[in-house]
Amino acid sequence: MARVVVVGAGLGGLAAAARLAATGHAVTVLEQAPQVGGKLGWYARDGHGFDTGPSLVTLPQVLEDLFVATGAPLSEVLPLQRLDPAVAYRFADGTTTALPGHRDDIPARLDADLGPGSGAQWTALLTRAEAMWRATEQPFLRTPLAGAATLARLARNTADLRTVAPGRTLRGLGHRYLTDPRLRMLLDRYATYSGSDPRRAPAALLTVPYAEQAFGSWYVPGGLRRLPEAVAARAVERGAVVRTGAAVSEVLVTAGRATGVRLADGEVVPADVVVCNADATSLYGSLLPPHAPVRRVRAALRRVTPSSSGFVLLLALRGRTPGLAHHTVLFPTDYDAEFDALFGGGRFGRGGPSRPVADPTVYVSAPDDPATRPDADSESWFVLVNAPRHEPGTGVDWTAPGLADRYADQVLATMAARGLDVRDRVRWRVVRTPADLERETASPGGSIYGTSSNGARAAFLRPANAARLPGLFLVGGSAHPGGGLPLVTLSAEIVSGLIGPA
Ligand SMILES: Cc1cc2nc3c(=O)[nH]c(=O)nc-3n(C[C@H](O)[C@H](O)[C@H](O)COP(=O)(O)OP(=O)(O)OC[C@H]3O[C@@H](n4cnc5c(N)ncnc54)[C@H](O)[C@@H]3O)c2cc1C
Repeated sequence: MARVVVVGAGLGGLAAAARLAATGHAVTVLEQAPQVGGKLGWYARDGHGFDTGPSLVTLPQVLEDLFVATGAPLSEVLPLQRLDPAVAYRFADGTTTALPGHRDDIPARLDADLGPGSGAQWTALLTRAEAMWRATEQPFLRTPLAGAATLARLARNTADLRTVAPGRTLRGLGHRYLTDPRLRMLLDRYATYSGSDPRRAPAALLTVPYAEQAFGSWYVPGGLRRLPEAVAARAVERGAVVRTGAAVSEVLVTAGRATGVRLADGEVVPADVVVCNADATSLYGSLLPPHAPVRRVRAALRRVTPSSSGFVLLLALRGRTPGLAHHTVLFPTDYDAEFDALFGGGRFGRGGPSRPVADPTVYVSAPDDPATRPDADSESWFVLVNAPRHEPGTGVDWTAPGLADRYADQVLATMAARGLDVRDRVRWRVVRTPADLERETASPGGSIYGTSSNGARAAFLRPANAARLPGLFLVGGSAHPGGGLPLVTLSAEIVSGLIGPA
């Protein structure tokens, strides 16, 4: 039995804690915030309740694996609800389509809404995506990153390697299959699921729409924040100790291995193994002492583009919106202008500072869930637009006086121009900027997904789950295999496998 300290109680940290406690280790989770969950936050006031982070669960089988491995299955603890339609889209030309929640129903819907032949184009793309999924799920998503060995596993046969189209971008591959600009826009959006630019992200991100459409879009009744609460409860049931309000200021290194952590108040918690769920740039930048033998990872982290952030409006609304889907996406005319603004630069994303997106894609999540509203004649909307990170000095300073409120008004006006005008129904609103996300979840710049997938090698530059320093492991969105609820849960599975049972 090892004494394991987990730094951070995000979903990844909690999932690792539950798995390690279930296999007999003595686990202590140390979380700086007053509650568990990290980016899976919750805001409640006057009977309105909002998830402040994720609103969409994909790959539910990954969560199911976690719960089965640590005790009772997920369905007994937290039954998930499959969404149908999955997402309602509105394009700039006024076309709308509500994509069904089951893959087989999608082609007919696209033919009906976007024109004959659209369904066949999308099906051809998803067939390619399925092949990519089969080629990458085991050797990449479910396996520790091991540099050249990972590439070798991926390339175990050249057909698999050709399938993932190394060297091609998501946009580039999409253009081969899709001629309709609206379908192309729909595909581009999946790059933003990892905070990336479709013009620079690898074609392998085609696995994202595949995972969503093949395995469904899901909701947790009562709010997604119930997920980390359930995982924390499971970890505690299996013997872990979860301490909130416990900020770790240093990972201790003695004789070339991690030997515990020091808290901000000076308390030392000794450990045989440290699992870090804090962002990898914080770990390598400030939590590890300068002499730690991790120079190569520090250099690699300097070469990757951090993921973008998000600007969130929580809207407490009077009245109900007839026919509103659970998830709605309102597209702009010029999607490229959005990516130029997010990552800085002109047409090809090079040079120039990042800036708030002038005419952003707007995402609305409006669960039809009594747990989120004071009465049947109210709604609680989570509105998200992609936003550049909080980078005072070099990029956008989201704390600049007036900026957040002005931008919130702009987002509401954009929604109105695209057919969703709720301005006279707002009881109150809460604005959450990338700076708030940084402050509350200790995520540098408010990056949603750690590092982005911009660039062909980005996935391989992401920090590995086993650090070069013996006794130190990384779990969560800034480490392999990446951000988003399913991937951080997979990272916990990888880490517990690397550490092994007691
Ligand atoms: C607005 C928004 C929308 C999103 N939408 C979706 C979605 O729809 N679907 C989806 O799958 N994903 C979505 N995501 C991404 C998803 O939330 C994350 O990928 C995932 O929750 C990250 O989990 P994690 O394990 O990396 O930990 P995090 O949630 O990043 O938590 C890390 C924890 O570590 C703690 N910590 C950091 N430093 C220290 C320290 N020094 N000492 C102690 N504790 C520390 C932090 O306080 C935090 O609690 C969204 C995120 C945001 C912000």
